[in-house]
Amino acid sequence: MEFPQFRYHPDPIHSGVISKSEETCICCNQARGFIYTGPVYAVENLSERLCPWCIANGEAALQFEATFSDPCPLLYQEIPENIAAEVAERTPGYTSWQQEEWLSHCNDACEFHGDATQADVKNASIETKQRWFLDNNADEAFWQTVTEGYMPQGSPAFYKFKCRHCQIILLGWDCA
Ligand SMILES: [Zn+2]
Ligand SMILES: [Zn+2]
Repeated sequence: MEFPQFRYHPDPIHSGVISKSEETCICCNQARGFIYTGPVYAVENLSERLCPWCIANGEAALQFEATFSDPCPLLYQEIPENIAAEVAERTPGYTSWQQEEWLSHCNDACEFHGDATQADVKNASIETKQRWFLDNNADEAFWQTVTEGYMPQGSPAFYKFKCRHCQIILLGWDCA
């Protein structure tokens, strides 16, 4: 069966939240070769128990009232409810130090592309930095301080998002 497409998280294997596994999915009761290892918000402990197909088709959200990220930041950014729901309920989330925050641009949720590489951060465009300054009430000097010695998966962490319309790269960030 073809691996599901996630509009807002195009490569969840690369970003590290879906792994090859012989585990049986608690939702469809099938071992489909892949299991989701990212964050799940649900009453039941669903950690490493859902396959990507049950996330994509909404079954996991329906059966367990599970979400994979918080829709509030997107709603707060005035993104339409159906898009915030698709991200929260039918898209693999991502692991962050504190609370993940899905970024948006051009009135749409952005694609998530995993931890930013050192080059992504070092060579961030003016546009990328300006949006980051705005989001974080920060300036170039603060940017220099927090990006100094940046390592993917370290603290501070930088997360790469890309606008599906104008292709701008946005960076989320978080600290341990
Ligand atoms: Zn499943
Ligand atoms: Zn855009």
